[in-house]
Amino acid sequence: MSGVLEQPVAHGESTYGAVVLALDPTVEDKHSLLADADGRRRPRADVTALFERLRADGILTAVVTSRTDLPAEFVADVVVAADPPEDGPDEASTGRPHRHPPSASLVLAARELDVEPEHAVVVSDSHRLVRTAVDDGFGLVVGLGDADRRGPLLAAGAHFVVDDLTALDLPLASVSGTAAWAGGSGGDSPWNLVHTSFEPRHEGLRESLCTLGNGYMATRGAACESRADQTHYPGTYLAGVYNRLRTDVDGFTVEDEHMVNAPNWTLLQYRVGDGYWFRPTRENTLDYRQDLDVRTGVLTRTFRFRDDTGRTTRVSTRRFVSQEQRHLAGQETVFVAEDWSGTLTVRSLVDTDVANRNVREYAALADRHLGAPTVEELGPGTVLVDTVTSQSQVHVAVAMRTRVLDDDLTHRSGTMTPVVPAPGVTGHELRISMEAGAPVRVEKVVALATSRDRAISTPGLAAAGVLARAGTFEELLAEHVSAWQALWAAFTVATGTGGPEGLAVNLNTFHVLQSVAAAGPDLDAGVPARGLHGEGYRGHIFWDEMFVYPMLTLRRPEWTRSLLAYRYRRLGQARAAARAVGRPGAMFPWQSGSDGREETPSVLFNPRTGRWMPDNSRLQHHVGLAVAHAVWQYYQATEDTRFLVEQGAELMVEIARFFADLAVHDPEDDRYDIVGVMGPDEFHDGYPGAPGSGLRNNAYTNIMTAWLLTRALETVDRLGKDYGGPLWQRLDLREDELLAWKRIRTRLRVPFLADGVIAQFEGYDQLPEFSWEDYRARYGNIGRLDLILNAEGHSTNDYRLSKQADVLMLLYLFSDGELRELLGQLGYVFPDDAVRSTVAFYRTRSAHGSTLSNVVHSWVEARLDRRGSWSFLTRALSSDLVDAQGDTTREGIHLAAMAGSVDILTRCYTGLEIREDMLWFHPAIPPEVPEVTFSIHYRDQPVQIELTPAALRLYLGPGPARPLRVWVNGEVHELAAGQLRVFPLEDADA
Ligand code: BGC
Repeated sequence: MSGVLEQPVAHGESTYGAVVLALDPTVEDKHSLLADADGRRRPRADVTALFERLRADGILTAVVTSRTDLPAEFVADVVVAADPPEDGPDEASTGRPHRHPPSASLVLAARELDVEPEHAVVVSDSHRLVRTAVDDGFGLVVGLGDADRRGPLLAAGAHFVVDDLTALDLPLASVSGTAAWAGGSGGDSPWNLVHTSFEPRHEGLRESLCTLGNGYMATRGAACESRADQTHYPGTYLAGVYNRLRTDVDGFTVEDEHMVNAPNWTLLQYRVGDGYWFRPTRENTLDYRQDLDVRTGVLTRTFRFRDDTGRTTRVSTRRFVSQEQRHLAGQETVFVAEDWSGTLTVRSLVDTDVANRNVREYAALADRHLGAPTVEELGPGTVLVDTVTSQSQVHVAVAMRTRVLDDDLTHRSGTMTPVVPAPGVTGHELRISMEAGAPVRVEKVVALATSRDRAISTPGLAAAGVLARAGTFEELLAEHVSAWQALWAAFTVATGTGGPEGLAVNLNTFHVLQSVAAAGPDLDAGVPARGLHGEGYRGHIFWDEMFVYPMLTLRRPEWTRSLLAYRYRRLGQARAAARAVGRPGAMFPWQSGSDGREETPSVLFNPRTGRWMPDNSRLQHHVGLAVAHAVWQYYQATEDTRFLVEQGAELMVEIARFFADLAVHDPEDDRYDIVGVMGPDEFHDGYPGAPGSGLRNNAYTNIMTAWLLTRALETVDRLGKDYGGPLWQRLDLREDELLAWKRIRTRLRVPFLADGVIAQFEGYDQLPEFSWEDYRARYGNIGRLDLILNAEGHSTNDYRLSKQADVLMLLYLFSDGELRELLGQLGYVFPDDAVRSTVAFYRTRSAHGSTLSNVVHSWVEARLDRRGSWSFLTRALSSDLVDAQGDTTREGIHLAAMAGSVDILTRCYTGLEIREDMLWFHPAIPPEVPEVTFSIHYRDQPVQIELTPAALRLYLGPGPARPLRVWVNGEVHELAAGQLRVFPLEDADA
């Protein structure tokens, strides 16, 4: 018999976009995807037929199987080669118990296909997997088994059971093509990210992309009607507000520090008459449109909805987080009863019952950071909510004012009753009598303050005071828009490319500004890798600031200075960390949070296996080199000697001490070795068979150390005794240390391969090549080869491959000439063509598993292959817009890729450098870019720069300043105040 055995549940009108075939290893041979035929294992005919049919119809497909030996003729979009984990202790290698439900591989398959489980079908022969699929909210779960197995499959929750897939008829619709741009588009404007339908499966991504913030705080672009659920994740984060939690898992205690998800101030619930409290779904929303205007920093949503009784209501919301007054935000909602009159009930709420649940991999970790709130009624329609984080004891206060206005903005009288619809959720309920066609506005203005703020008594008093002084929604919005105008005047980069790239340039700039614009002496916060947009990487701070500062320093150098102070304040911790491993100087942590201790987790969850694997990334001591580099670059751009004296020099010297101590002398050939570290490429934490042992002589680390020691010596020399005397005394800087630095900086070892190619580390030449084509064919997206190979029982350490640029970072940070000079200083010859051969070598050996990688590759290709550079740049620009790392942007944007991609247009394609008291230009613009126009502030002078393939135009604003010296393609010129100079360029492609 074949066909449907039972269909006990009706499934309404839903359609699904993906099918996951999940095979239980224990019954795999019986109902196998693979059946023996002619002595070979081949896909079963009904399986092949189904997959061919699905793929022809544009339906996404995945297979979850323990088998890694799938025959080549079998094609699915995603193959998750993993057994769901058994109960019981985890692998001894991690020394940790696993803490993930056995559904990991199903959820992973859905995630890799970029579909929400509710939009996917699972077909499985295992009652265990059927049950987990049902528990995980998969939309339709089909059991595969004969009559004997029907009972267990149905009991496990299968919606129906079939014994053969040939005639399986599923309600499917193609979704391919809509994943890019989160299902949205740039519309016609490079300033607007527009979405014209409500797509639950893209909501998480859109929420990150539509986050509004001002550097002090940021709020995800979540629908105001919803609390956190399968589709929505409202989140508000305050720069520098962290909390530590401990989780006990099977006898192990894990302690983590997270950037805290603060109370959700956006919550607004409403219903028509006695109808249901509205929440958007695909079915109940009409004419949906969401528009993020990055020029003004306003998120607008408009739609109509129809309730159970057919009444239609138009809703439009506008939201901003004030760029002018950092503590304020506003949200206005306009309701129009299109075809009814009666009562609209609205609840304007603050939700303190929130947790950190944005990242699925952290599901097993404790997530409640906020205590129960205290609530105070401040006046009619105004409430103050105060809550405190459990360990760091940071108070977060939200004062909220709600008003109801008619269309002409006159105040509406009416009742506002305090309401607590759920524990921790508080605000006011308004009963509004609506007349058909007459708009009514509900306006919410909130003030947020924390106990980390300066010049306050208590956060509660501060928030209440700011709110009491705040103008109306319209007034606040107007000043917010003006503040954005001022920011854009400084940060706009025009390219004339239009299309997606035009929007990406603006969107990326926007999100960088939203993450750092409050930087100042009174805000103690660093540059979190994922912005203030989500909980990815727990809100921690890595080395990514190195990619962000150039954009800031050329326009708002005071921001860079304030952000570097985050590091300076944590120098004590970095010293203690160095001391703890028996070294002098300062060892900055790979991941940093509130107090600067090492926050890098020691295990990493592999969703492919459902198990935890060791994470040795804390061996990336090169983060200290990035801090030193940022200090020096800031000083170069500003000549801010005071900064150097007060903070910069101390950072340089202490970091230099640590790295000099790492370098161990080898008397045999009088070279210095640095061993036991990781470079930027996270796929090599040791040698084959010795994970976590670190590497010998990572070229990036060694060359950067030579650079650092040179600059540290220069700093000591520049400041001399007059400026630096007291500091050198306080640091007990000794002559013999300086002598050692002088020696080490000329004798560090750098490994090479053939043709002058710099080797990533010593022993790299012993590693076999990796089968890129094979893995691409099998896995499609191979960005996370660490997870893939781990699931296969292999390791990335075993091959010549990298997650991201490592050696090439050197050509990102230094010009060819500077790198040659550094290598020369170390006694190595770096021939002219070695740049080309080094880039060519690593070009084909990167998985680009980090969004930083495309930035670096684009940069280093700019002078070798301009089209190639543009192609990398388009990928870097759209990293978050297309969610390039596969379902990670929903957990926060990738700030370094956003800043770094825009920086390529300005610094790399113009060849802009600040050296020897001059502005240097050496343009190389790809043919795809018609122009790059932007302005910078160079040592307090405003310079406008316009580059086209034909000419470079420089204009110095009028003023009292002395003329600038500019170097353009080999010649030095002067640029006087008020002067425009045009430098014709030869088209390199001509
Ligand atoms: C990259 C690191 C980066 C981190 C945070 C990782 O995937 O490998 O280089 O610092 O993400 O952005």
